[in-house]
Order: sequence, then structure tokens, then C-alpha cells
Amino acid sequence: MPAIDLLDLDSLLGEEERQIRAVVRRLVDDRVRPYVADWYERGEVPARELAREFGRLGLLGMHLTGYGCAGSSAVAYGLACLELEAGDSGVRSLVSVQGSLAMYAIWRYGSEEQKQRWLPPMATGEAIGCFGLTEPDHGSDPASMATRARRDGDDWVLTGGKMWITNAPVADVAVIWARAEEGVRGFAVPLDTPGVTTREIRRKMSLRASVTGEISLDDVRLPADALLPEAAGLKAPLSCLTEARSGIVWGALGAARDCLETTLRYATTRTQFGRPLAGFQLTQAKLADMAVEWQKGYLLALHLGRLADSGDLRPEQVSVGKLNNVREALAIARQCRTILGANGVSGEYPVMRHGDNLESVLTYEGTSEIHQLVIGQRLTGVSAFT
Ligand SMILES: Cc1cc2nc3c(=O)[nH]c(=O)nc-3n(C[C@H](O)[C@H](O)[C@H](O)COP(=O)(O)OP(=O)(O)OC[C@H]3O[C@@H](n4cnc5c(N)ncnc54)[C@H](O)[C@@H]3O)c2cc1C
Repeated sequence: MPAIDLLDLDSLLGEEERQIRAVVRRLVDDRVRPYVADWYERGEVPARELAREFGRLGLLGMHLTGYGCAGSSAVAYGLACLELEAGDSGVRSLVSVQGSLAMYAIWRYGSEEQKQRWLPPMATGEAIGCFGLTEPDHGSDPASMATRARRDGDDWVLTGGKMWITNAPVADVAVIWARAEEGVRGFAVPLDTPGVTTREIRRKMSLRASVTGEISLDDVRLPADALLPEAAGLKAPLSCLTEARSGIVWGALGAARDCLETTLRYATTRTQFGRPLAGFQLTQAKLADMAVEWQKGYLLALHLGRLADSGDLRPEQVSVGKLNNVREALAIARQCRTILGANGVSGEYPVMRHGDNLESVLTYEGTSEIHQLVIGQRLTGVSAFT
């Protein structure tokens, strides 16, 4: 563990957890770190190639069981997310959306045939999935979604549009949430179905090493077996978001760790006024505060991970983790940037890239404000959403 592990938190992990972490860290060192600044600058990422490599290591749907999935613990999955995001939040997003959103939705709510069809190729990275909940006019409030599903004989017909969908332009299948007569339902939609079009969202200033897109659904006719039979109501997509948020609680710490490690190296080698930046009390105060926050965030992630592994994790507890760890990771990235001075804005260093990425991470999977409202409701018993 790095110097920032002041509290020897590493000792709280089991041997297998440390091994999984080491394998993912090596993969990120070999296959992400040397290339990611370039992907970021170009706004392009070899998503299919990476998916296959992640699949070979068993990282896709790794916390799910059966159908070619690794069946790891929530803590092991979290550690993998941390290492992936130490490379780049966009790369971690590829894995999170595939495993925790698209695969999880099919694994939890799909028919046996849907699981057999989609999960094995998704686990190897041969097939890529995405998760379409957000719409152009409905983000934090998915209950108001405008996408409609209507029955026509045995078929379903979907009409509407989804926006800001990670992986959509490279995906083979989308889990689409739509309002039917009886309420919100989920569908596994092959993206080559007539009437489906995807368009990449360009000019993102954040998560540039992640493919994001729009999905249009123009009278898309689907057979009856495209419906996820067990998903009834909004609580189904929300349960998928809880899964993905658990990975983000860990992942954000990875981005923050990479910022901190970079900054520690920089501050000890860069000299001003005849001494290293690290020798100034103001710099040490910043470094100390950031390391303390990182350790607190790690303890929080580990606690939530252990709760998940014992089956006791509640959604509002995940909100505590997502709210705190992303907010603090972003604060760490911004503070680290100041210590790097002008080099802090350069793509030669990863700090500003992490900070810019974390702006998206702060917004997706429930904005900070939405998590504050979830926690506020739990504290007071009063809903302040509307
Ligand atoms: C890079 C990226 C990738 C994404 N990937 C996916 C994906 O794969 N699948 C998917 O479905 N979505 C995805 N999203 C969408 C993301 O989940 C939404 O952007 C998010 O839910 C917020 O919705 P919005 O952008 O419409 O903001 P809005 O809901 O319009 O919110 C705007 C602001 O108002 C605040 N606000 C809203 N309601 C309230 C309230 N009741 N009280 C107080 N404040 C409020 C919000 O907190 C926010 O600050 C992605 C987004 C990004 C940026």
C-alpha cells in the first residue's frame, strides 16, 4: 500500500482481496496508464478491446454468480473498481455499467433464457451492455420518464429516447426502462433492432475516455421475451443504481489516490525558494488533510462493502458513501491541482483529468443533492424530493 495508508488499513483485507487488487493494479499499469492521457485528449477509447481484456480477467459482472461470472465478494469488486479508477473514471465506468447496471439488471430481473443469451458473452466482454434510464427531459426524476412501452398482440412497441447513456454507441444490448400501462418495465433491447438508433455525445469535457450516447426508440417492435419479467416498477432500476453506486464509493477513492500519489511525488521533487514544496507547512497541511479524508473514505467504503457481503446493506447507506467519497475525491483532486501549479492543468499529469472526470461521477448515479435528500428523508422521515 502507498504512503497514504497511514492507518494500515491494508491489514483489514484478506489475502484473496489483496491478490485481486494486485492483479487489477497490474492490468491498469500495463493497459491503461500508458495510453489513457492520449485517449482522453482524443476523446476516444478502445472500449471493445478493453472489455475483452477485462472479461479475460473476470472483472465484468465479477460480483454476480453463475453464467460465467466470477462470484467475488462486494469488497473484492470494490477494490477492483478502486484500481480501475486510479487509471481513469471512464475506464471504471465501462466496467460498472457493464457489470452493475446492464448485467445485474438481466441477472436479477431477467428470464432464464435472457440470462443464458446475454450474461456469458457479457462476462467475457464479447458483448457490451448499456443501461438506459435517463432521458433528455428526465434525469434526477426518472419516475416522470416519457419513454413508453405498449403491447401490440404478443409484441411490445417502445417509443422515446434515452440520453447520457454510457457505452451506448458501442453496445450490443441496452436495458431500457419504459413506462407501460401497469408501470415502469425493463426490456433487453438488441441495439440492431429496427427503429433503434444511437448517436455518440461529443465535446464532453469530462469522462472523455468513456463512450457516451443517446438512444432513440422509434416504434421499436420487440418480441414478448424482450421484457425482463421480474422487473416491475421503478424500484427495479433503482436497485441496479444501488449496485453501481457501491462500486463508485470505492472507485472515487482510486482517482483520489492517484492524485495524492502524484502530488506527493511532485511536492518532494519540485523546489521553490530553495526547498521542496513538501517542506512548506502550508503544503503539508493540505497533504495531511487530504490523506485523512482519504483514509476516512476508505474505512467507509470497506464498512459498506462488508455490509453488502453480509446482505445487510441499505440504499441510504450507499448514499452516505457515494455522497461523501465522490465529494471528497473531487476536493482532493482540486487541492492536488493547486500543489502542481501550472503543471496541474497539464495532461502530462493525471490530476486535472481525474478532477474533470469526478465532475461526472458527482452527477451520475444520483447527484450529490439527490443523495442528500435520500439521507435527509431517512433522518427526518420527511420526503423533500418534490
Ligand atoms: C458522463 C455521464 C454518463 C452517464 N451515464 C448514464 C448511463 O449510463 N445511464 C443513465 O441512465 N444515465 C447516465 N447518466 C445520466 C445521469 O445519471 C444524470 O445526468 C443524473 O441523474 C442527473 O440528471 P440530469 O443531468 O438530468 O440533471 P437534473 O436532474 O436536471 O438536475 C440538475 C440539478 O438539479 C438538482 N436537482 C434535481 N432535482 C432536485 C431536487 N428535487 N432537489 C434539489 N436539487 C435537485 C440536481 O441535483 C442537479 O444539481 C450519465 C451522465 C453523465 C454525465
